[in-house]
Amino acid sequence: MTGIMQGKRGLIMGVANNHSIAWGISKALAAQGAELAFTYQGDALGKRVKPLAAEVGSDFVLPCDVEDIASVDTTVDAIKERWGALDFVVHAIGFSDKNELKGLYADTTRENFSRTMVISCFSFTEIAKRCAPLMNEGGSMLTLTYNGSTRVIPNYNVMGVAKAALEASVRYLAADYGPKGVRVNAISAGPIRTLAGAGISDARAILSWNQRNSPLRKTVTIDQVGNSALYLLSDLAAGVTGEIHFVDAGFNITSMPTLEALRR
Ligand code: NAD
Repeated sequence: MTGIMQGKRGLIMGVANNHSIAWGISKALAAQGAELAFTYQGDALGKRVKPLAAEVGSDFVLPCDVEDIASVDTTVDAIKERWGALDFVVHAIGFSDKNELKGLYADTTRENFSRTMVISCFSFTEIAKRCAPLMNEGGSMLTLTYNGSTRVIPNYNVMGVAKAALEASVRYLAADYGPKGVRVNAISAGPIRTLAGAGISDARAILSWNQRNSPLRKTVTIDQVGNSALYLLSDLAAGVTGEIHFVDAGFNITSMPTLEALRR
């Protein structure tokens, strides 16, 4: 198979099932010739991820829980041993206690604040630090964020704060690794029905609001996010780093409900 990712090898972190954004990204990359390694969190998800990896021709599937830094080290060591080098990494990992993805942000506990920040934000920095030495000029790193980082989205709460820090990390990491020719970007995806998305209270109402009020009058799919990720991870985006790229049917540019919605 030939394609724009031919000869490139990358690590995909965050596939839980075939609805995951990371799976949409994996399909787009594999269709363009990329060779992929996958991580999964826990045996139950491993049973889902292994057959998906096989669908895109990969038998390189490793357990990794980012709360346990030793498992991140083991993952990166395994990549080094098998491939020696890495062209790209996708971080599509987020978690917060769903009891705090409703109600007031002010009620966030110290324990869940710290855990959310470590898993959803700091893990990207830890992974970047470990993967950068395996990358040459042209390397690319990508994480996933959401508009709740800069705007108040009902119930997104502490995840919004973590995504704000994640977006700042993208800029600092882009500055750190830019001189080495390695790019660091994020996609800010519109709401999509996924396992993580379902943890946010009233997720359906948010999806429907986006669908009715975005300029394109729809919500985005994992395949659309996948194609934008393909661009950012490929040499087509060789001049792009430190960028938060919206793939949200344009919702982020709106300032009020559409007039149709108001008149309804
Ligand atoms: P998903 O549930 O399919 O993926 C989330 C992944 O995070 C899972 O694979 C899960 O195993 C992994 N994860 C959680 N804790 C982990 C840990 N301790 N160690 C390792 N992995 C861990 O949901 P998704 O919506 O595809 O989420 C992927 C990313 O996209 C997340 O960062 C999410 O915040 C972001 N995002 C999602 C949406 C949406 O509406 N679904 C919108 C914008 C951004």
